[in-house]
This record gives sequence, C-alpha cells and structure tokens, in this order.
Amino acid sequence: MAPGTRLAALAAEAAGCIRCPLAATRTQVVFGVGDPDADLLFVGEAPGRDEDLQGVPFVGRSGQLLDRLLAEELGIDRGSVYIANVVKCRPPDNRDPKPDEIAACRPYLTEQVALIAPKVVVTLGNFATKLLLDTDQGITKMRGASYLVGDVQYVPTFHPAAALRGGGVVLAQMRADFVRAKQLMGGAG
Ligand code: URA
Repeated sequence: MAPGTRLAALAAEAAGCIRCPLAATRTQVVFGVGDPDADLLFVGEAPGRDEDLQGVPFVGRSGQLLDRLLAEELGIDRGSVYIANVVKCRPPDNRDPKPDEIAACRPYLTEQVALIAPKVVVTLGNFATKLLLDTDQGITKMRGASYLVGDVQYVPTFHPAAALRGGGVVLAQMRADFVRAKQLMGGAG
C-alpha cells in the first residue's frame, strides 16, 4: 500500500481516538496535512483554537509565520511538505500537553515519520525537539545544529509562537534553521 493510503487509513483511525482525556474536549482530531511523500516534515506542539476548529495544523498566527518562512527561505508552500504535531488534539486553553497525553499520542507521530520517510524533520519548539531527539535539553541549546538519527536529519528550531513573541532575533535564528534544513535536503523543496 502507498504511504499516502496508509497515512489516510491512520488518520481515519485517529479521528475516533479516545486514548487520552483530550478526546473529551476537542472539536476534532488534527492529524496532519501535506504531501505524504514529502522530503520535509515539520512537527509542532499541539493544535490551538483555530486548528481545533478547522482540523488542519498551523492555520492560526503561528501557521501564517510558518507559511511565510517556507516561502521566503525555501521558496515552497505547505503543499509540498508535511505538517504534524506531537499531540493531535487541542489541550484546553492551549495549556502545555501533559506527559500522559504525549505518550498516548506518540504512536501516531512515530507512524507518520515512518510512512512519510522524510529526509529532514524540522522540530518546532521544545515539545517536538525533546520527544523526537529524546533529550532534556531545551530548544535554545539544541537549535543551530542538525542531528542524524537513522537516515533522517533533525533540525530543531523555535516554535513560530516564540518568534511572534520574541521578535527579530528569534525570527532571524528561525530563518537560519530553515536554510539549514534546505541545505540538508540538497536544495529547494
Ligand atoms: N501550534 C502548534 O504547535 N501546532 C499547531 O498546529 C498550531 C499552533
């Protein structure tokens, strides 16, 4: 079965997920979006309000910044990458996801990485970075480098929300990280 078909089957399964308490408060599961054959995968933290309503990751302000950086630093749009989150359901009031929620949701992300088989994974912020790189180090320490795990290059960077809060310096570092991801892919998109 093609990765896209298997990913769609997994999304259908996840749509009814009741593995953690977030099932009770979500509007819908936000599984992921994009090209199942993408060379580049972005992993954020958890859906926010806009994402919970629309069922699509990164459609709010953070998503607009992500789209802008994709266009300006890689010359591509979100249709040619895949975008997912550590946790597929919105935590109430956008609180941090809890360890048991992350653990319950982890198999979905593990399967997404395996099926998409990207060359490069950009981890957006602490939650994705700590989970996927199995580290306690924070994003400020981890970013600015790439990490080879198996045959996948991981590029940690700030969450777009941090750039929206933190302004120019954070944004400039994110831009540099996006350029690093592009170089690791061997060119654009
Ligand atoms: N922040 C995230 O981490 N993920 C989203 O999908 C939206 C905002």
